[in-house]
Amino acid sequence: MPRDGHGRIIDYLRISVMDRCNLRCTYCMPLEGLRFLPEENLLTADEIALVARAAVSCGFRKFRITGGEPTLRRDLVEVVAGIRAAGPDVEIGMTTNGMLLPRMAKELKDAGLDRVNVHIDTLDEVRIRQVMRFADLQKIMAGIDAAEAAGLTPIKLNSVVVRGENDTDVVELARQTLTRPWGVRFIELMPMGDGEEAKLALSKVVPSQESMEKIIDSLGPLNPIPAVHASDESRNYQLSGAIGTVGFISPVSDPFCSACNRVRLSAEGKLLLCLLRDDEADLRAVIRSGGGVDAVSRALREAILLKPVGHALDEGIHASRRMHEIGG
Ligand code: SAM
Ligand code: SF4
Repeated sequence: MPRDGHGRIIDYLRISVMDRCNLRCTYCMPLEGLRFLPEENLLTADEIALVARAAVSCGFRKFRITGGEPTLRRDLVEVVAGIRAAGPDVEIGMTTNGMLLPRMAKELKDAGLDRVNVHIDTLDEVRIRQVMRFADLQKIMAGIDAAEAAGLTPIKLNSVVVRGENDTDVVELARQTLTRPWGVRFIELMPMGDGEEAKLALSKVVPSQESMEKIIDSLGPLNPIPAVHASDESRNYQLSGAIGTVGFISPVSDPFCSACNRVRLSAEGKLLLCLLRDDEADLRAVIRSGGGVDAVSRALREAILLKPVGHALDEGIHASRRMHEIGG
């Protein structure tokens, strides 16, 4: 098992396969001024499989495919199959906005994907278009249904809570867990991008405690569920009589850095050591200079040793990349 310089076991790799997206969520992608990676800069499916083999050889046990929007990648099934071949018994999840899942859920399951997290900020048809610009509630719901039918379960739903945009919608989303076996998770907005943008985002953070209180006021007590893994970033609860769970991810009000078990691979092959800082290592350079599994595995281990102890949002330090370039 790879350990970082602070003794944490790092066995979870989040792989961004695409920096483009079919949506423009307000806190993730502006409507204008975006620059995307040229196709030749993206890791190919074979290169991603090579990183996965290197990671498995180091002791990584968990992978998550993300983006941008991973379902926009034409060879996504091949990407999944390559990771699965690298680790027949590892866990492979995918985070998606779900819009394109109906046409590919089954193929992805057959290629070796275990489960999906679907991003849905509100169940309100109008507000969803305001927060997750270009989103279509019916299509996302069809994506969730397709994932369920394909067995990409248990399904988690991710909602980023933004003050003044969807902060009252937590109640309706949480209500779904009474009748659906979903893990609905509310994520505190994280400041990304340049200084002004990050400052504006910080002013729109809704602390998890506030969302919890809204849910309790409307739906009754949230009963705590003990964490299965210390590295679970979500604090989980259950409404009385519910079949699903409600979780809160609180990177701003209650950072989980001390239990962090993950690193991230960007679509262009940079190993990102912390979601909210810029520390990185260039794995694509190792691969494209002829490095094989051993060389990539060595580069991975060396980089992990340099993983920062935690984020430093309170010192005004945040990642200069946007979330769609990192993968969340
Ligand atoms: N497009 C996919 C999606 O939306 O799920 C995968 C990529 S997206 C960058 C991954 C996750 O990042 C999303 O589920 C969203 O919840 C989260 N996210 C994006 N921007 C965020 C921000 N500024 N703060 C907190 N979470 C954010
Ligand atoms: Fe696209 Fe996901 Fe970013 Fe929304 S959060 S713009 S769906 S990458």
